[in-house]
Amino acid sequence: MTKATTSPDPWAVGWMIRALILISFLAAFAVPMNFPIIAAVTQPAGATVVAEGPQIIPLIAVERATATPSPSPFTPTPSIPRVGLIAGHAGHDSGAICPDGLQEADVNMEVARRVVALLTPRGWQIDLFDEFDVRLNDYKADVLLSIHADSCTVPGKTGFKVARAEAGSLPESGDRLVACLSQRYEARTGLPFDPYTITYDMTRYHAFYEIDRTTPAAIIEVGFLLDDRQILTQQPDLVAQGIADGLICFVENESP
Ligand SMILES: [Zn+2]
Repeated sequence: MTKATTSPDPWAVGWMIRALILISFLAAFAVPMNFPIIAAVTQPAGATVVAEGPQIIPLIAVERATATPSPSPFTPTPSIPRVGLIAGHAGHDSGAICPDGLQEADVNMEVARRVVALLTPRGWQIDLFDEFDVRLNDYKADVLLSIHADSCTVPGKTGFKVARAEAGSLPESGDRLVACLSQRYEARTGLPFDPYTITYDMTRYHAFYEIDRTTPAAIIEVGFLLDDRQILTQQPDLVAQGIADGLICFVENESP
């Protein structure tokens, strides 16, 4: 048994569909500009579709020309640079010792604390580590730098040196880090770069194997405790500024 149905007039259905499409089209423009949608609904469905076009479109154009663009709803959050500093030998041993009792670990910490003080006002997140700090395991940051000073037993030796990990996962960024630190540190302190006493202690430094492999890392020997003693102990602010300059160069993508 079938239901008796009356079939609608196909022409009327066609015009109804066109009218609905027009209403949808107008609503799409009108809603974002607070144009009253009800005005479109009151248009007679059907007959005057073509005629309505030229009257409505100029109105929309005027509305658009005077509308001020709304701000983008998506504002990206700027990422805060994260920097790790190791105060060499801290929490472990004294490092190099001079005959008068001057200890490398104390010099390193004086400098490291000053670097923290210089970089923190930039809004960066700074982590200060001991030499064998458990937080170094899988440490992720924009950069990690270990701060050391050289021995007190080599008369006539002066200068600083910087080395990156021998086998880092990011050798290019490691090289740029070394370039930034070397050039800015030399410019600030006037100490010469000493490439002749870079040892495995530096290139195979333990922390390089503890941190996350994506963290660019380097170690700096800020000077010799004997011949560079004056600048290391009397001008630690200058030493720290040289390191801060190098880190800013690297983190802010300045050319070394
Ligand atoms: Zn050391």
